[in-house]
Amino acid sequence: MSEFPTQLLINGKWIDGSGDGLDITNPATEQSFAEISAATAGEINQAVEAGQAAFESGWRDMPPGQRSELLHHLARRIRDNVESIAQLETRNVGKPISDARWEADAGAKVFEYYAGAIGHLCGQTIPVARGGFDFTLRQPMGVIAAITPWNFPFLIACWKVAPALAAGNPVVLKPASLTPLTALLLGQLAQEAGLPDGVLQVVPGAGSEAGNALATHPLVRKIGFTGSTEIGAKIMKLAANDIKRVSLELGGKSPNIVFADANWQRAADESPMSVFANTGQDCCARSRMFVEQSIFDDFVNQFVAATEALKIGDPTLDETQVGPMVCASQRELSETFIAEARDANRDIRTGGDRPGDSGFYLNPAVITGVETVDRAWREEIFGPVVCMRPFTDEAEMLREVNDTNFGLSGSVWSSDLNRALRVARQVESGVISINTHSSVHTEAPFGGFKRSGLGRDLGMSAMEACTEVKNIYVGE
Ligand code: NAD
Repeated sequence: MSEFPTQLLINGKWIDGSGDGLDITNPATEQSFAEISAATAGEINQAVEAGQAAFESGWRDMPPGQRSELLHHLARRIRDNVESIAQLETRNVGKPISDARWEADAGAKVFEYYAGAIGHLCGQTIPVARGGFDFTLRQPMGVIAAITPWNFPFLIACWKVAPALAAGNPVVLKPASLTPLTALLLGQLAQEAGLPDGVLQVVPGAGSEAGNALATHPLVRKIGFTGSTEIGAKIMKLAANDIKRVSLELGGKSPNIVFADANWQRAADESPMSVFANTGQDCCARSRMFVEQSIFDDFVNQFVAATEALKIGDPTLDETQVGPMVCASQRELSETFIAEARDANRDIRTGGDRPGDSGFYLNPAVITGVETVDRAWREEIFGPVVCMRPFTDEAEMLREVNDTNFGLSGSVWSSDLNRALRVARQVESGVISINTHSSVHTEAPFGGFKRSGLGRDLGMSAMEACTEVKNIYVGE
């Protein structure tokens, strides 16, 4: 028997799917190490029907305290298994083990937060004009589909699953085909924690088959999706027929703005990891840098030195900061952007080459001399590539910052707080951080403007978005 689940979790049972098995590869060695069962429309249908049955037969109506207790149990099971979750994630995604441990622990925190939030999901009493008694209830919706990407497989699964379950909905989770292992483990831990059958089901499979079947199933009330803008748009269209609710967390091309009055030396030391963490495969990657002209050259030199000091290599080692990319095609995609920049005589200040023959590694690339029409400046690369431009005028810089279809994240560095806040308000993005790159918090809403998404993960907003509001009026 495998040391981790390899089948689908449907209605409390591990079963084989009828799709072509998913071949799972270790990005650090390029060796395949598992084959995972894949769902097709038939299994998706079974899962959604079982979810609906679990909803009607108890999950919807379970007293909040009891539901909270079960989610606390699950948080504890995650905490007890942080190391095995992290080891599996590193093997499957190639991310450094220290990051994987942090993410597994953060997943437990997400369940703890929503287990507690159950007691804070409130309606309103409303003083309607004609008198009487008017109030609202927040009710669960029914089966929620969670469709997740490969870059933070475990943590994003927790972001989607925890608020949906807490609000009283069953979840059918479809992880990305490249990285289904820790989602299956989450399903196993949920079983061990005593969640009723059918409340959390996990169905790996191809997006075009399993994902599509889930997104179009008439009993699915809401789709919580994280992934590319292209597939997000497709999901929105698929959802339209049944007016399914959607929340979409999509791509980004986030700015990192450094003024000369900032502690720019600190910004230069810390900023490489704001774009190269997770080997740049991060929707929040600060991949466009705007640096005030008067410090541009010094800043770039220090940034390049900090980049070259990063520990790149075997993701199982504690000291590794940057591992391989998730697969060969993802690395090739980044390389096409770098080659294009080179052909256009842009200045590749460091990186962009492969450090060795084995593993999908790519040395982080720093590019200057880019023009605002360059593809590397405009498109989400989703790899370890940063482009930098100098600015002199704040208003002109802000126009460039907002001249993008994306609007997810960003950072502003300045010691003038008025200026930093003025700029932060004007950047068109769902989250932004000042004098730090930390902008994702379990308790606070996370999501994008424009083509970076619709709706918010995390915080109370995510849980409220897993409910329908019902207004009840009692006549006098
Ligand atoms: P993707 O869009 O290729 O896939 C995401 C999920 O959608 C996968 O589970 C996939 O199997 C499924 N899918 C694909 N086609 C489908 C279809 N036709 N119907 C239903 N489901 C389908 O994204 P990815 O390559 O896994 O992840 C990278 C992208 O995710 C990047 O664009 C990144 O910015 C984005 N992302 C966004 C956030 C955020 O919170 N905004 C977080 C992480 C990643």
